Amino acid sequence: MKRLGITVSGIVQGVGFRPFVYNLAHRYNLSGWVLNNSSGVEMEVEGYQAGLDGFVLALRQEVPPLAVIGEISLTSRPVMKDSQFVIRYSVSGAAKAALVSPDVAICPDCRQELGNGTDRRYQYPFINCTNCGPRYSIIQDVPYDRANTTMAGFIMCEACQQEYDKPTDRRFHAQPNACPVCGPAYHLLDRQGNVLCGDVVTETRRLVSEGKIVAVKGIGGYHLACDACNERAVQVLRQRKIREDKPFAVMAGSLETVRMLCELSPAEEQLLTGPARPIVLLNKKQTGQLASGVAPGNPQLGVMLPYAPVHWLLLTGQDIWVMTSGNTSDEPIAYDDADAFERLAAIADYFLVHNRPIANRADDSVVRVFQNESYMLRRSRGYVPSPLELHWNLPPVLAMGGELKNTFCLTRGKQAFLGPHIGDLENMATFAYYKQAINHFKQLFAVEPQLVAYDLHPEYLSTKYAQQLSLPTVGIQHHHAHVAAVMAEYGLNEPVIGVAFDGTGYGTDGNLWGGEFLVADLEGFSRLGHCQYIPLPGGAKAITEPWRMAAWMLQELYGKQTAELGIACTEQLPVNWQLAMQAAAKGLNSPFTSSVGRLFDTAAALIGLRQTIHYEGQAAIELELAAAGISGELLPYHLSSGTPAILDFTPAFAAMVQSLRHGASSGYLAACFHLTLADAAVSMVRYISQQTAIRKIVFSGGVFQNTTLLSQIFRMLEKDPFLLYVHRHVPANDGGLALGQAVIAGKKLGCC
Ligand code: ZN
Ligand code: ZN
Ligand code: FE
Repeated sequence: MKRLGITVSGIVQGVGFRPFVYNLAHRYNLSGWVLNNSSGVEMEVEGYQAGLDGFVLALRQEVPPLAVIGEISLTSRPVMKDSQFVIRYSVSGAAKAALVSPDVAICPDCRQELGNGTDRRYQYPFINCTNCGPRYSIIQDVPYDRANTTMAGFIMCEACQQEYDKPTDRRFHAQPNACPVCGPAYHLLDRQGNVLCGDVVTETRRLVSEGKIVAVKGIGGYHLACDACNERAVQVLRQRKIREDKPFAVMAGSLETVRMLCELSPAEEQLLTGPARPIVLLNKKQTGQLASGVAPGNPQLGVMLPYAPVHWLLLTGQDIWVMTSGNTSDEPIAYDDADAFERLAAIADYFLVHNRPIANRADDSVVRVFQNESYMLRRSRGYVPSPLELHWNLPPVLAMGGELKNTFCLTRGKQAFLGPHIGDLENMATFAYYKQAINHFKQLFAVEPQLVAYDLHPEYLSTKYAQQLSLPTVGIQHHHAHVAAVMAEYGLNEPVIGVAFDGTGYGTDGNLWGGEFLVADLEGFSRLGHCQYIPLPGGAKAITEPWRMAAWMLQELYGKQTAELGIACTEQLPVNWQLAMQAAAKGLNSPFTSSVGRLFDTAAALIGLRQTIHYEGQAAIELELAAAGISGELLPYHLSSGTPAILDFTPAFAAMVQSLRHGASSGYLAACFHLTLADAAVSMVRYISQQTAIRKIVFSGGVFQNTTLLSQIFRMLEKDPFLLYVHRHVPANDGGLALGQAVIAGKKLGCC
């Protein structure tokens, strides 16, 4: 007889790990115990050598679906001669350092029960088990026990309690366990709050099929739902939501329906059907099935599959519904019932609500596939609050993130807890949510930060808030943080060449950077190359009005002859455009920028694609879409050597204007622009590598959401002796910024 002490770290709480251990112990005839402790699961097992060997092997190999094992450590213990194997209760407060699981899409077992007429949870929209269901969205405090969740108010009936108490049951200690007798329920209301009679699912389906807009309370907040094939319903939703042309995501009733709508690679299918169930950006097929207003003029479509039981009840196989977050533009997603009613009453015709409060809102996550692997665009529901595993031990740091697409980050040892997608902080409600979410994370993961990292931009609300926290602070340059975020994902700690392309980030010289080639490690960076500074005529206005960048370029190139060029762009310019340019020439409200995002704007406006935008990055996105499937030719540009080396695209824009005058198509020129930008980035990387002998190249910044550009750069660098790194688990946009800030700040405290 022998006895082993075993500890397992990772995501092992709230995922059915103790019953799994219990069953294994029985299979191998072992006695002993298992419990949740502060770092995961701890156990002692006793029996014959063969049984112990079998147990340890199975422990590693047969992990429950939602568990993610960090480390398993074994020590030998004195034999105790226990008579049986028991699950011990965790000591209260001991789970402080444990991990909270993200929300998980309904599992196959629960789906089967949901559709089984003889099951006591037949068509019950809150069905869940240890392998699935809400987690992060219902947790108020740790340890993850029912009393600390928004299920606390529902007392389990006898049948539910029996499942909850029985170690071999799939619902053993499933904290949200519930049934129609004892659990939450859905109600369907009209705008005035009157309860509608009849079966809520049947009625909701009827309303949607009649073209109505229904606000549906789900896991992490409210969705606005309507029939995605009903042109009128989609238009009404756009008008009421005040969203001109930003694409809506859809939910499809089955994988077969997704296949009819879109091209689907094995990697994309895996993402769609995985437990996180994000929105996956896919290439549309030409079917004409969807209303054109869902994603106007867009060859791509954001698609997700049902993830909450209620979605499975609402959508049958062929259904396609718009499922857009329940908010008006720029506000955070509604999750509180009273608030939802107030804010969504002008948008939704009906409300499908339930009485299980949402403790933490979680927007749908958005991913796309780049080179057969997941490439994150928005990390929230299904991923948050799983930590990102770091390669270094960090002291507790709070990183504030940026201003747009904000997320924050807290570190604890080798773990980085990246917060949920918060949104654009300029909005008051969003900013309040930001402050509240930071505090909740501090409490949930028991982190008391020693240092606060913020962006150097003095006007960011995240920066101002950092300074109010009465903690030591450190300012981190925006693009250094972008590059460090990639380094954190791969554990890189040596100097790399960081290519950081985005819309705007505050530079150390007070200019707006965004086309940067940095030689960086976690301690610092030198700016060895960047795009030529050009003025941003009108400042922030130029970001929403791309014509300003194009007008500046035309003025530079052609002066007074601009009006006679006879290209569409000049005809689309507002009458007083020259006044704006004169002001810019005098330096009035015209900061200098090296931003690649603004080069995209210049190109999109010059080509005549877009003069004014309605959402962030719209011109760049449309330029990428215009180039889809078209091969362009290389345009001239200029790389001037020196430190920093400068890339000047003025010759490329001149060539574009000439081609336009000879009738070149916008798609062709969009393709030329991509190719030229890729070629220029590659030339600069090679130039800097020659000087520094650095061969690790890192790509980050919002521009690299553009996988057309990224693919071209990768292809061009194929034969170079470089190692290329891109984001996988955090977004390349400012949603990943906080991770980079955190690791740089952690390094400054000297504890890597
Ligand atoms: Zn389940
Ligand atoms: Zn019950
Ligand atoms: Fe950025």
